[in-house]
Amino acid sequence: MKLAILDRDGVINQDSDEYIKSPDEWIALPGSLEAIARLSRANWRVVIASNQSGVARGLFSMDTLNAIHAKLRRELAHVGGTVDAIFICPHGPDDGCACRKPKPGMLFDIAGRYDIDIKNVPAVGDSLRDVQAAVAANCTPWLVLTGNGEKTRNHPDLPAGTQIRTDLAAVADAWLSEE
Ligand SMILES: [Mg+2]
Ligand SMILES: [Zn+2]
Repeated sequence: MKLAILDRDGVINQDSDEYIKSPDEWIALPGSLEAIARLSRANWRVVIASNQSGVARGLFSMDTLNAIHAKLRRELAHVGGTVDAIFICPHGPDDGCACRKPKPGMLFDIAGRYDIDIKNVPAVGDSLRDVQAAVAANCTPWLVLTGNGEKTRNHPDLPAGTQIRTDLAAVADAWLSEE
């Protein structure tokens, strides 16, 4: 099974320091939905793993988050793509949960859902904590330069071996050209 794990904000859609608090604030990055659609057509299963501490912070409800994801799925379907599942961590940084990246809990949950060894499954993110979670779960870390990516690229703690591409479209190009 070809499985890909994607961060959401800064990878699929524009990120915001003010959080994405409503469907209107969720705006896809150029080419990202089409990149997922190309993966879908090539029989990749795409799963999102996203920290959403705005829930714990009281900035938006789970209902609103579901509405945001309904928009994501609707726009994605419009270009012929699909995501299999969306895993989120709704906790805050002080909650001590196992799922907030850089902890690998969500990635292990995904492995459990598909009953697979996620060793070497590619995980794409724009922030250091995405890359760190990928490494902790034994996934292959991919960094895109959208969102926080440019900042992350120059971080001294960026794990060696992180695959770096301009954006999700370039990541999909790399994966599909290997097939
Ligand atoms: Mg992000
Ligand atoms: Zn959590």
